[in-house]
Amino acid sequence: MRRILVAGNWKLNGNSHSVVRLASAVVQGARELTEVDIAVCPPYVYLPAVQAQLAGSRVALGAQDASVQDRGAFTGEVSAPMLKDCGCRCVIVGHSERRSLFGEQDQDTAYKFAAVRRQGLMPLLCVGETLDEREQGVTEAVVARQLDAVLALEGAGALTDAVIAYEPVWAIGTGRTATPQQAQDVHAFIRSRIARQDAGVAAKTRILYGGSVKSANAAELFAMADIDGGLIGGAALDAQEFLAICQAGHLQGQQG
Ligand code: PEP
Repeated sequence: MRRILVAGNWKLNGNSHSVVRLASAVVQGARELTEVDIAVCPPYVYLPAVQAQLAGSRVALGAQDASVQDRGAFTGEVSAPMLKDCGCRCVIVGHSERRSLFGEQDQDTAYKFAAVRRQGLMPLLCVGETLDEREQGVTEAVVARQLDAVLALEGAGALTDAVIAYEPVWAIGTGRTATPQQAQDVHAFIRSRIARQDAGVAAKTRILYGGSVKSANAAELFAMADIDGGLIGGAALDAQEFLAICQAGHLQGQQG
């Protein structure tokens, strides 16, 4: 049985007061939402403050990125061992903003994925095509390339402790959501790609959709056979909106 996961990516937003308020409101609202897994990913510097709010709650702490290095002379980096030490349970890797704005290549993402797994943390691997790529009809080729970099380095078995997020770049922060069927088609493709290496792992891998998910469209997305939750950006900054999305996951979870 699949279990829906809703993860909030707070990106570069908030301050020491607002993140505590937001985390506390999510913790309160999450108490009854027993049939959905929930995580929030604040900026690095606020991880300890947010973790203090999440302690003992149903909400897991996540980070937005991690260094490929575990330690050493790498000024400005934050390592997976440090994230583990701060209480993180999952780490986003290969977000399209890291890829497009910071030049992260498929291989870099694969090394980050490995670094996160080495610490026993759950990588949340983002894949997805740009609008140009969709219009050129190469969505599957792009997603396959991004996924294959990780599969080649770590093997399909590594996905047992990981989550994939399909995030079409044209839908992130744009208000333009993929239709449930468009998302389902790519999710099914991702699952079939994993199944080429290991059908058992493919059946169990959670594949989240990300890209302008909100309370108004969450239920129809989560109802699709291969959509196992959501990675939420903008809507995760509003506790009530985020909780309404989690509630959609909870209701889907109750239906089994
Ligand atoms: C994201 O940043 O991963 C994301 C999906 O953002 P949004 O929900 O704002 O489109």
